[in-house]
Amino acid sequence: MEEIKNIALVAHDNRKKDLIEWIEWNYTSIIKHKLICTGTTGTMVEQALKKKLEKEEFDFHITKLKSGPLGGDQQLGALIAEGKIDVIIFLWDPMQPHPHDVDVKALLRIAVLYNVPIACNRSTADFIISSSLIGQKYTPVLKDYEAYIRRNIDME
Ligand code: PGA
Repeated sequence: MEEIKNIALVAHDNRKKDLIEWIEWNYTSIIKHKLICTGTTGTMVEQALKKKLEKEEFDFHITKLKSGPLGGDQQLGALIAEGKIDVIIFLWDPMQPHPHDVDVKALLRIAVLYNVPIACNRSTADFIISSSLIGQKYTPVLKDYEAYIRRNIDME
């Protein structure tokens, strides 16, 4: 990971207010990084940052994926598998079932598999954004899956 991180932001509808408050609180740190969001979250984050930065000559870019339930979570999972995401802030809703629960589970799984730091609540997001590692190069330790790739498959 380089000094400038690829930070993914995703929030379920009941958690979007939390995420936007967190963005407003931490925007000076957040805008130093590249942001990748699921669709609706991305639009809201963009509006919040524009508002915060309206008096400043600062340009930022947000990559917006599809809306989560329409495949955005899976697009993000693919980016993680390709090593293109360094940090994830994923405020998922623990109080409601979602039509895309399987995608949510898949996203959490692939983040753990690739040892990507993932915050699922604001306190963890606070700890991540205030860590000195957020502005430094960092090499996550990746488990070696070579033995798994070379496993014997019984074709009898
Ligand atoms: P959204 O998707 O940002 O498009 O609302 C979030 C999600 O439910 O994964």
